[in-house]
Amino acid sequence: MIIGVPKEIKDHEYRVGLIPASVRELVLLNHQVLVETNAGAGIGLSDADYQAAGAFIISSAKEVFTRSEMIVKVKEPQAVERTMLHEGQILFTYLHLAPDLPQTKDLIKSKAVCIAYETVTDNKGTLPLLAPMSEVAGRMSVQAGAQTLENSRGGRGLLLSGVPGVEPAKVVILGGGVVGSNAARIALGMRADVTILDRNIHTLRALDAEFQGRAKVIYSTGEAINNLVVDADLIIGAVLIPGAAAPKLITAEHVKIMKQGSALVDVAIDQGGCFETSRPTTHSEPTYIIDDVVHYCVANMPGAVARTSTFALNNATLPYVLNLANKGYKKALLEDEGFLNGMNIMYGKVTCKEVADAFDLHF
Ligand code: NAD
Repeated sequence: MIIGVPKEIKDHEYRVGLIPASVRELVLLNHQVLVETNAGAGIGLSDADYQAAGAFIISSAKEVFTRSEMIVKVKEPQAVERTMLHEGQILFTYLHLAPDLPQTKDLIKSKAVCIAYETVTDNKGTLPLLAPMSEVAGRMSVQAGAQTLENSRGGRGLLLSGVPGVEPAKVVILGGGVVGSNAARIALGMRADVTILDRNIHTLRALDAEFQGRAKVIYSTGEAINNLVVDADLIIGAVLIPGAAAPKLITAEHVKIMKQGSALVDVAIDQGGCFETSRPTTHSEPTYIIDDVVHYCVANMPGAVARTSTFALNNATLPYVLNLANKGYKKALLEDEGFLNGMNIMYGKVTCKEVADAFDLHF
């Protein structure tokens, strides 16, 4: 199969669909990989690295799209990229179609076979191609929170770990799934005083077994949250109710009673946020202050550590890319029900229920 990797063109996006090691595996299986020039330049992957792995370097996105049978990307195709897709071409990338009618319409028009990373499931019902980004965001949330607590950002001037003779900062993590558990590992590694809340008893048991009392693991109720907010220095929002907007666990009233200069990091902002006072921010202006509480609500946290994120994403996507290339999309998807869940639009028809429901596009 001929596989194309265009350079990402979304603002400040430095990730890339395939790393040279993935290219090498495809080439060894007699596939051809076309990589747009400078596709990995932003994260230190040069054209020479790709050539050494067996890729052909192509000077224009147009040529990559025209010649490839499958396009592997990171972000949803932008308007100009959508005009370059063609009938029957496989598009494998993050799509997030439900809130995006213009993209949905363009992909229908393209008659391409559009498979979204974020709706692929595994045999445990979890989302294997979203998990790496949650791991990155979870770990990064503590780094972001630590900076947010510094005086220069309006924080209360706390070092997470404290020092001998000075107590550590109190970190409360709402949600102990992929983001929350990764945040807890890093916060404990930085010697903060960590409390994790979740509503899933199995998750609580697993966290308790992992942390062996080094973190407090608490069932999440309104009362538990009321008791913790007044004393917390940093609260990390990491809840998810699949398919639904995030519940507002921290209210505007809570924010009013939090300590001056304390910090809120809302990782769940991409689902609307779990703090009532959250609104999406960007890497260039990540924080704002309400009632003396510093808010960090960046919706694409992994984009700031694009090299780590690219390698983590490739580790998860490569088996699927190899399957598509080796077997073609029909066989690859029909053999794996979870992979089939990734199919969002095919030859002009919406095949993902949530997307069809969002725009009333049932055929
Ligand atoms: P997950 O499903 O692994 O974990 C979510 C956890 O929230 C679950 O354990 C669930 O039981 C718990 N939960 C649900 N309701 C709760 C409540 N009322 N109180 C406490 N816990 C509750 O999901 P995840 O992969 O960890 O993702 C968490 C959020 O982070 C999602 O919204 C995801 O989209 C988002 N995310 C954001 C970024 C970013 O850049 N901002 C990056 C990756 C993921």
